[in-house]
Amino acid sequence: MVESVINLAADSRLHAIIETAVEGIISINKDGIIQSFNPAAEKIFLYSANEVIGQNVKLLMPTPYQQAHDSYIQNYLSSGQPKIIGSGREVKGLRKDGTEFPMWLAVAEFYESNQQYFTGFIRDLSTEKSYFEKASNLEHILERSLNEIYIFDAETLRFIHVNQGALSNLKFTREEILKCTPFDINPEYSKEQFEALIDPLKNGDTDKVDFCTVHCRKDGTHYPVEVHIEPTEYESKNAFVAIILDITKRIEAQEKARINQERLLHMDRVSMLGEMAAGIAHEINQPLTAISSYANAGKRRIDADDLDQNKLKELFEKISFSSHRAGDVIARLRMMLKPHRKQAVYVAINKLIEETIELSKTDTNSFDYEFNIHLTKNLPLVVADSVQIQQVILNLIRNAMDATAYEEKRFKTISVYSRLLEQEKRIQVSIEDAGTGINEEDADQLFNPFFTTKESGMGIGLAICHSIIQDHSGRIWFTKNKDKGVTFHFTLPTALENEE
Ligand code: ADP
Repeated sequence: MVESVINLAADSRLHAIIETAVEGIISINKDGIIQSFNPAAEKIFLYSANEVIGQNVKLLMPTPYQQAHDSYIQNYLSSGQPKIIGSGREVKGLRKDGTEFPMWLAVAEFYESNQQYFTGFIRDLSTEKSYFEKASNLEHILERSLNEIYIFDAETLRFIHVNQGALSNLKFTREEILKCTPFDINPEYSKEQFEALIDPLKNGDTDKVDFCTVHCRKDGTHYPVEVHIEPTEYESKNAFVAIILDITKRIEAQEKARINQERLLHMDRVSMLGEMAAGIAHEINQPLTAISSYANAGKRRIDADDLDQNKLKELFEKISFSSHRAGDVIARLRMMLKPHRKQAVYVAINKLIEETIELSKTDTNSFDYEFNIHLTKNLPLVVADSVQIQQVILNLIRNAMDATAYEEKRFKTISVYSRLLEQEKRIQVSIEDAGTGINEEDADQLFNPFFTTKESGMGIGLAICHSIIQDHSGRIWFTKNKDKGVTFHFTLPTALENEE
């Protein structure tokens, strides 16, 4: 018990301490009337000293403390048995604005001029409390989170703590998992590989490592996860915290989107081929007619006993050449029709452009168009899926043909360029026409699916081109030509980029 007799007025040093104390200090007489109220108390209770001095201290207490207070003091005065005097305890305070708050209260008694007084020392617990409450709430939330959270020792890499989400996803018991390390639950990483992965965290080269991998449940089944690892401290030890998201649903959604896009691409190729059918028939008919006439010529020679070996050989060679031509057309057709999964390989872009221009010539009325081909020699290989890029070029050429369809013959030239963007180490392909051009209102919408200005257009060509090029980490856009028409450009990464 504190039994100090303090003369507040006499001790100016003490007065200074009271005035600057972070704790609220309030003194009252034995009837509970407030005698002094320091600035910290003013801050805590939101009253000024003038407002409360002379008032009963019950003003600062909510019910039921108000009622109990008088009896506390009386009890103490008559029995000398302290309830709160000398020791501290948590009680509730009442601010001027009517709000209640938790506070820590310790009371000392003192005498001045033979009068008994009490001094209360008050600490506002509301901020501390809310901090601890929030911290323990957060801990509770993290513990119960469905995401997996692991803390593992920076040296041994053994798990020190894992949350409930980790246990229920992996189906291990806590005892079992605490014997494991991250690479025990990750079939894609050996100890060495995992150590190499977190090395930059240990060296301080980075403060976070993110990657996607798979986790292995106790029963041996796998699921895809996204992992974020950061250094931390746990119970005064260097450790790492790993937060893991199960991305099974995301991967399923991406796979669905990919399949949908492939279907769309496939549909587009089929519809393109439908429109090209007349041209294709012409293209196949030509070699077939040639084969038939060479065969007839050979038969006539045999009938006429004209067996000149060189002449017959020449006829057979022509038959063979024409049948290969027809075979090529069919092979290209089959390639276009086949449902296709993206396969990025090194592709010689100029060869692909030339093949695609040939393919586009199978389009109806293609005889009306003239191609100006400006391909830069010795370009590096691009990293691309040749079927998809062929589809982009074909779409752009067909749009250029459509845009010039009603122009005079001299404007029906389509120019195709390939060039190296040295700095970016990328290839740029451009397809230029002198057609109708694109007006301001349409310009922003061209790449939106189903935007078309054509009577029989589907409006998916450019949207598909955009998604293919984006998927190849490239860019697609158009510029207006000085004289007439527009030029569409797209870029693709080259093999050079990967060499760095
Ligand atoms: P579609 O050809 O079925 O309309 P696209 O997505 O390929 O679908 O094209 C969308 C629209 O973009 C076209 O309807 C046309 O208005 C415009 N467009 C595309 N290329 C050109 C071009 N070279 N010149 C003028 N307009 C073009």
